[in-house]
Amino acid sequence: MRSRIGIIGGGIAGISAAHFLAEKVGGEHVVLIEAEDHLTKHTTGRSAAILIENYGALPVRGLTRAGLSFLRCPPPDLVDGPITTPRGSMFVATPGEDAVVERLVTEATENSVDQRELTALEAQGLFPILRPDVHSRFLYEPAASDIDVAGLHQAFVRGFRRAGGTIMTSNRITDIIKTQAGWQLGSAREAVTVDTVINASGAWGDVVAEHAGIAPIGLTPMRRTAFMVGSSFPDSAEWPIVSNADHTWYVKPDGPQFMCSPADETPSEPCDAKPEELDVAIAIDRINNATTLNIRSVSSEWAGLRTFAPDRSLVIGPDPSDESFIWLVGQGGIGIQTSPGAGQLVRDLVTEGSPGSGFDGLDLDLAGLLPDRLR
Ligand SMILES: Cc1cc2nc3c(=O)[nH]c(=O)nc-3n(C[C@H](O)[C@H](O)[C@H](O)COP(=O)(O)OP(=O)(O)OC[C@H]3O[C@@H](n4cnc5c(N)ncnc54)[C@H](O)[C@@H]3O)c2cc1C
Repeated sequence: MRSRIGIIGGGIAGISAAHFLAEKVGGEHVVLIEAEDHLTKHTTGRSAAILIENYGALPVRGLTRAGLSFLRCPPPDLVDGPITTPRGSMFVATPGEDAVVERLVTEATENSVDQRELTALEAQGLFPILRPDVHSRFLYEPAASDIDVAGLHQAFVRGFRRAGGTIMTSNRITDIIKTQAGWQLGSAREAVTVDTVINASGAWGDVVAEHAGIAPIGLTPMRRTAFMVGSSFPDSAEWPIVSNADHTWYVKPDGPQFMCSPADETPSEPCDAKPEELDVAIAIDRINNATTLNIRSVSSEWAGLRTFAPDRSLVIGPDPSDESFIWLVGQGGIGIQTSPGAGQLVRDLVTEGSPGSGFDGLDLDLAGLLPDRLR
C-alpha cells in the first residue's frame, strides 16, 4: 500500500492526529497502523479520564488550552453526546506540603486557571469523607471535567473514517526503512510506503524510532496503578476528584464507585502493564489515612503506562535528523486532555511547518514541545 502519511499507533494520540490531518489533506492520503486488534488496548483505555487545566508540565498547558473548545463543544456530527461533564477537582495538602500548594497557586495564576483556595469546612462540604485533622490547605478547580474517553476516541475515528482514512489493526510495524520511494513500514502482515511517518506509539516510542534508525528521545514508560472500590454514599457520584498536592494518592468518584490510585510512577519496559498488589495496598493505606473511606476490598484493578520524556513535556514535531519522521509521544498523564490540541499541532507542523492560526493567543511554548530541545 502507498500513502502520503503513515501514523504508527491508534491510541488517542495517533487517532487525533489522523482525524485532523485527514480533515486537511484528505483521508485517502492518511493511513493509521495499530499493532493490536483494537485501538485502545493500551494507555488510552486505562486512564482516569479527567481534564484538569492546572496540571502537567508548563509547555503542555497551551496544548490543553488549544483542545478545550473541541472537548467542550465537539463537532455534533462526530459525537452522540457531550465529551466532558462537570466534575471539579480539589488538591488537598498537609502542613508539610505548603511549598507545593504555593507552586500550584502560582501556576494557576500564570495560566489564568480558575482555582480557588477553600476553607476546611468548604472542602468537607464538597468531599465529606476528607479528614480535616490531616489537611490544612484546599485548592479547588471548579471547571475540571470528566472526559468520555471512549466517546472522544470514537469521535476521532468517525472523523477519520468519514474523510476516507484507512485504519489497519493487528499490524505491528517491525522495520522502518527509508528508500527513494519513501519510508517502508514493514510488518509480518502488510507493508506500507509513506512520505511522512508519525510516531504515535506511546510506550513504544523509542522502539519505533530505533526501527527507523532515528536516535531515541529517552522516553520512560512509568506504570500507574488504579482500582475501584464501592461507595456507600448516595450522592458521591457528584463529588470532585481529590488528590493530595504532592500527588501520592487520588480518589475519583465514578458512578456508584470510587476510582483510587497511589499515583505511582514505576519505570517499566513497554508492555501490557499489570497492577502489583503492593501498589494497591500502598494506595489503600494512604487513602484510608487521608479520608474516612475505610477501604477494605477492591472490586477491580488495572495499570497503565504513562510515558514521559526526560523533561516531562510532550514531544511533538519533526526529528532534527529527518523532518519526515514526526514525533508525537511523551503524553505522560495528560494525553487525553491534550489530544485535540496535539492532533491540531501535528496537522499544522506536517502541512504548514508551524502552528496555525488556531494557536493564536494561546501562548503556545513550541520550543518546549519540539524534539530539538532533547538533542
Ligand atoms: C491510570 C492512568 C490515569 C490517567 N489519567 C489521565 C487523565 O485523567 N487525563 C489525561 O489526559 N490522561 C490520563 N492518563 C494518560 C493518558 O491515558 C495517556 O497520556 C494517553 O492515553 C497516551 O495515549 P497514546 O496514544 O500516546 O498511547 P497508547 O494509548 O498506549 O497508544 C499507543 C499505541 O501504539 C501502538 N503501537 C506501539 N508500537 C507499535 C508498532 N510497532 N506498530 C503499530 N502500533 C504500535 C500500541 O499498540 C498502542 O495502541 C492516564 C494514564 C493512566 C495509566
